Amino acid sequence: MVTWTSVEEELLSLAGSVPDPELPVLTLEELGVVRGVDVSEPEGRVTVRLTPTYTGCPAIEAMSADIERVLHNHGVAEVTVQTVLSPAWSTDDISPEGRRKLAEFGIAPPRPHDAASDGPVPLTLSVRCPHCGSTDTELLSRFSSTACKALRRCVACQEPFDHFKEL
Ligand SMILES: [Zn+2]
Repeated sequence: MVTWTSVEEELLSLAGSVPDPELPVLTLEELGVVRGVDVSEPEGRVTVRLTPTYTGCPAIEAMSADIERVLHNHGVAEVTVQTVLSPAWSTDDISPEGRRKLAEFGIAPPRPHDAASDGPVPLTLSVRCPHCGSTDTELLSRFSSTACKALRRCVACQEPFDHFKEL
């Protein structure tokens, strides 16, 4: 017998397997943006809760369309993707596997916030170069290939790299 819970778990892992439209090496699950799946009985309508990486992120539209397509292909007739703004996504939501992939891809993973301190995040965070590890990096552009990332350059090795904006 299939319980609704296992169906929801299956749908959640399907929705989470969708690649990030901006960074296809990462799945939405690894990015931490899929918050949950609800199945309403008896119609079987599926609602996926998705949190954008920042308010107004244009990638949310592509993510929603991809999730709808994957679930449609899996036989779900009615899919609604609901944007959930609270609690807000933070770079802490990126899974350890997601951080590893980001580093492999030459993108500086955002540093996990210090869980012990609830105080304001210092503005002088150094961004480490994913190529040589130097923290001597400079901001080239606040917007790189996508609005969610900034383009930086390493002063030590001169290599440019994308950096997820701190949220
Ligand atoms: Zn470097």
